[in-house]
Amino acid sequence: MTAARRFHLFLSPHLDDAVLSCGGLIYRLVAAGERVAVHTIMAGRPPRPLPQSPILADLHARWATAGDPIDARRREDIRALSQLGALARHTAIPDCVYRVTYTPAGEPVALYPSEESLWAAIHPADTAPLLLDATPLLYPQTTALHIPLGAGGHVDHRLVRDWGRRLARANPGLDIFYYEEYPYSLNQGAVEAALAALNPPLDLAPILHPLDDDALAAKIAAIACYESQISTFWRDAEDMADAVRRDALVVGGGIPAEREWQPRG
Ligand SMILES: [Zn+2]
Repeated sequence: MTAARRFHLFLSPHLDDAVLSCGGLIYRLVAAGERVAVHTIMAGRPPRPLPQSPILADLHARWATAGDPIDARRREDIRALSQLGALARHTAIPDCVYRVTYTPAGEPVALYPSEESLWAAIHPADTAPLLLDATPLLYPQTTALHIPLGAGGHVDHRLVRDWGRRLARANPGLDIFYYEEYPYSLNQGAVEAALAALNPPLDLAPILHPLDDDALAAKIAAIACYESQISTFWRDAEDMADAVRRDALVVGGGIPAEREWQPRG
């Protein structure tokens, strides 16, 4: 441990993943005087015109955001993170449901048009891996990098995880953590599958971050800022708060906690 103020950078695939997974830890770090930033990668605007796809029709109805859903989602993220005392940065790669290729006639065709496609192979025409390769560590003062583990196997989470691993190799002085993505992490076998899917393999040890009442309350209040996203996972904000409390107890084996994984040695 050094006396210098540490700087924690969380890589978040979407506008909510870091807070859903590590909102309590972020609160704790800020309360301990450390600095925290959350860099959300797939926060780009949709293409114009939008492609037609079943998943977009469904998502836009579910999010119920007026106007451009990305503007609304970015505002939710800034509110949640400023409440926790963390910086918010957004990169303009669109969510995979907005990534397209074009027909010879110039019509946009969705690369990930269905629910199933979100968990399948990365589309060969997807330029996100190349864009990520060209994206540096946004904060050179970073001392600890928190990377999504890929629990659940969403295509954007796998892409950001692999990019995070490349950043870790390019910046060998950093402390590296892999966070379990909540609520996917609660699905049977999701974390084990993510650990087994790491390629090249990594020897990781779990690290529990216990959450006191303040940290848990701050996490719930921050998640509540993502109003458009609540209905994806829960009935309403109250149902979310109950689930977050209950699930944190499961993670910590009786005391509320969040879990990350750290390379051994
Ligand atoms: Zn996500």
